[in-house]
Amino acid sequence: MFSSPLLNLASWLPRSRANGPGTRMVLWLQGCPFRCPGCQNPDYLEFRLHRIVTVDKVWEVFEQLPDLDGISFSGGEPFAQAVALAELARRVQEISKTVVCWTGYRLEQLQTGEIPGATDFLPHIDLLVDGLFMQGQTDNLVLRGSLNQKLHFLSANISEDDVANIPRQEWVVSPDKLTYTGFPI
Ligand code: SF4
Repeated sequence: MFSSPLLNLASWLPRSRANGPGTRMVLWLQGCPFRCPGCQNPDYLEFRLHRIVTVDKVWEVFEQLPDLDGISFSGGEPFAQAVALAELARRVQEISKTVVCWTGYRLEQLQTGEIPGATDFLPHIDLLVDGLFMQGQTDNLVLRGSLNQKLHFLSANISEDDVANIPRQEWVVSPDKLTYTGFPI
């Protein structure tokens, strides 16, 4: 029996430079209630068990990488696992590192209290990128796939200047795989 909350991951990267300011761990969460045409991660949409890890385990790995500026959550839909992510994000902020999160919901929807865990998770996010991906509104935007999506700087720890020069795309090479991440140009 686990006392630490569980996360269901689709994928992860220990270090990325295209998913928020500086160098960040990235977790892609498995499962999304939305079906945006043109979604970049169709394999991450189905709510099925994939890679189950405890928050404690992710935290242990995160703590072993002191050069990281923070952590980023993408998907899938991170707010479908908001209860566990709130706990992880709280720990990350406690050691003065930052949290970036993408969501298909709009910020106002998350603030209603109707999505389990959302109001506990939001105070531990420094930068929220909200809104569904709209295939007809693509543009060359920092950290976003379409014009309707917005950057919400929820704390003073990440500013517009911090996100000005983030690369739009990145290939990460590791001994066993090649990972593409970022946004289409
Ligand atoms: S919200 Fe994001 S992950 Fe979900 S379908 Fe839309 S683009 Fe894909």
